[in-house]
Amino acid sequence: MALYVQKFGGTSVGTVERIEAVADKVKSFRDAGHDIVVVVSAMSGETNRLLGLANAIMDEPTPREMDVLVSTGEQVTIALLSMALNKRGCAAKSYTGGQVKITTDETHTKARIRSIDEKNMRADLDEGRVVVVAGFQGVDEYGNITTLGRGGSDTTGVALAAALKADECQIYTDVDGVYTTDPRVVDSARRMERITFEEMIEMASLGSKILQIRSVEFAGKYNVPLRVLSSFKDGPGTLITIEGDEKMEQPVISGIAFNRDEAKLTVQGVPDIPGIASKILRPISDANIEVDMIVQNMGADNHTDFTFTVHRNDYKKAKVILDDVCEVLGAREVSGDDKIAKVSIVGVGMRSHAGVATQMFDSLSDEGINIQMISTSEIKISVVIAEKYLELAVRSLHSSFDLSEATEA
Ligand code: ASP
Ligand code: MG
Repeated sequence: MALYVQKFGGTSVGTVERIEAVADKVKSFRDAGHDIVVVVSAMSGETNRLLGLANAIMDEPTPREMDVLVSTGEQVTIALLSMALNKRGCAAKSYTGGQVKITTDETHTKARIRSIDEKNMRADLDEGRVVVVAGFQGVDEYGNITTLGRGGSDTTGVALAAALKADECQIYTDVDGVYTTDPRVVDSARRMERITFEEMIEMASLGSKILQIRSVEFAGKYNVPLRVLSSFKDGPGTLITIEGDEKMEQPVISGIAFNRDEAKLTVQGVPDIPGIASKILRPISDANIEVDMIVQNMGADNHTDFTFTVHRNDYKKAKVILDDVCEVLGAREVSGDDKIAKVSIVGVGMRSHAGVATQMFDSLSDEGINIQMISTSEIKISVVIAEKYLELAVRSLHSSFDLSEATEA
């Protein structure tokens, strides 16, 4: 029989009725003979409600008190779910992070897990109990309550699965798996049976709405099979593992991710000498602005154009900084566009196939879509295009790479 860690998110435990439904589901696995450790989030909206209470008192409460406060959300759900299980004759015991104990560093509100003591959980499992653990929280070495950052219950689930060497970490959520692209953009988007950790991380723009990307990195590092599935309807979900499906030939492209909230900035006519890239980007990173794609063109007359993209919210701030840099460096001018989007095709199959980029570019040119920037990694090709063509681009790539077609019976 297997050992499963089952994580239920906020919507899955959003009401007493839903908690009862989760108890039914957990009990059915237990009745089938499996050992079960459950990790739960706070009831949906609860963490935000608690943050709101804190902010009604003061703008910046100390992170330590914030953690004492927001960790209570999960404490409510572990108790309620354990009661619901016990009511069904399914013995269960709740644990806060500190009771487990999950030890973290001291970085309040975004702590990292250092170690997990499995003794208590093992003892309960050995006696046939379901163990119900509060997600998102731990304690530092002095016993202070810490939390792992928003969405951190996913990371708790994966960490417990790694510590217990569970057969699978199952993330129950409100979607029934990971799709080839956003079904709101492409009707025929298909649920993937399987995807690799690497691909899932590259698909962050799609995936991060489903689970905390940090938890996927963690699962990849410890090779914990992760399964994303719906708490509301039955089905196999999507399995995220180290390898794709060995049974069949890998599709070249697994999915299409996209990002609307991008902006690009170009410093034109910068002297083409050593140190320029750093002089342009240093003040940007000093201002805590994250840079995504970077392209430096081949210079002419010892001058070059330097372009990069940032989140759209940072566009104005970055433009002001660059105007200064432009003057200091004696560059010609700064131009920019905050109506751009990034579209990426992702797939480990790219490693062994030639012509993937050409197929992508052909498909975009057939639609008359101009590519403004291109960047590649081993398993991803991203392009920047005008935002107004985003949906069209995603749809045409989805059909060009045959993603709608069922690949498994
Ligand atoms: N309750 C926390 C949050 O809302 C943690 C989680 O749900 O994963 O961010
Ligand atoms: Mg979540």
